[in-house]
Amino acid sequence: MDAHNVGQAARITCGHCNIRRYYKPAELREIAGNVTIDEVRKRVRCEKCGRNEYMRAELFNPVAAEAMSIRYRRLAEIKFVRRIIWRDE
Ligand SMILES: [Zn+2]
Repeated sequence: MDAHNVGQAARITCGHCNIRRYYKPAELREIAGNVTIDEVRKRVRCEKCGRNEYMRAELFNPVAAEAMSIRYRRLAEIKFVRRIIWRDE
C-alpha cells in the first residue's frame, strides 16, 4: 500500500459472515505498517466470527458515485494494553 494509492479504498470482506467493510488505506497502514494488501488480509480477523480464513482484502479505485456513498470504518483510537507476563525460574 504505497503513498501513491491516494483515492483508493480498501475493501475487506468476510466470506463467512458476508460482511463487507471499507477502510482508508492510510489507516490500515497505520495499524499494519507499510505492507501489501495481501499481508493485511493475512492479519485481519472478522469482527463477527473472529476467523481469518474467509477474509478477503482488496484495494480499488471507487468511481465517483461510489466514492460518495461508501461508508468508511475509520480508525477511532489505538489502545495500548498493558499485558503482564510471568516467568518461572
Ligand atoms: Zn466473519
